[in-house]
Amino acid sequence: MTVVTRDLTKYYWMGKEQVVALDGVDLAMEAGEFISVVGPSGSGKSTLLHIIGCLDVPTKGDVYLNGMRVDFSHKKLLVSLRRTFVGFVFQAFNLIPTLNAVENVEYPMYFNKGGKSKREREEKARRLLDLVGLEKRARHLPSELSGGELQRVGIARARANDPKLILADEPTGNLDSRTGKSILDLLKRLNDEEGKNIIMVTHDLEAAERISRVIRIRDGRLQ
Ligand code: ADP
Repeated sequence: MTVVTRDLTKYYWMGKEQVVALDGVDLAMEAGEFISVVGPSGSGKSTLLHIIGCLDVPTKGDVYLNGMRVDFSHKKLLVSLRRTFVGFVFQAFNLIPTLNAVENVEYPMYFNKGGKSKREREEKARRLLDLVGLEKRARHLPSELSGGELQRVGIARARANDPKLILADEPTGNLDSRTGKSILDLLKRLNDEEGKNIIMVTHDLEAAERISRVIRIRDGRLQ
């Protein structure tokens, strides 16, 4: 899918003070691209990811997903775009602690219309766990998994509803460098073999340059 932003701008208010999180970002992503976003802390990386993922709304400017302008005033549309187009991977994994690995992967499927039966959901979740090498950990709770395993579950979950776009916010930020590399390799494979569009926020410039097109952001502006 293509992702385009035009003059994307976001202000937050802290009391009377205005914080400029994004300041007129024009970004164009082609179908099947892997883009990494790098920049100092507070430069607007997460805000950009959240708005593209329809988790947050811009103050000004537009997002086009596959050429369709997102109407940010239409709450139900945002929910449906999130569920159909986008999968999220988080730095802190954000798994539900009381659900085991396969249940965590199944979870987003409950909310997808045209839903599958319980058995179909479970089979698909197991398949997605197989693809990240976790078939033997399917019944384990998050508390019984290592950081790398938790992020593998996170990646399997991000794929639950077959999104075209994966948004990953510092996916290796909580991992040692070797484990982090294996997670990056996994994302790279998703991009190479399945043509998923990926936008990843990272501090690891070297890895970002190895596997993706890098864009730099500072004070809410692309460099
Ligand atoms: P990054 O991901 O690059 O660290 P963010 O996108 O999280 O940057 O934040 C950009 C700027 O917007 C920062 O100055 C941050 O403090 C501010 N900001 C982000 N979210 C909020 C919020 N919910 N309320 C107020 N300010 C925010």
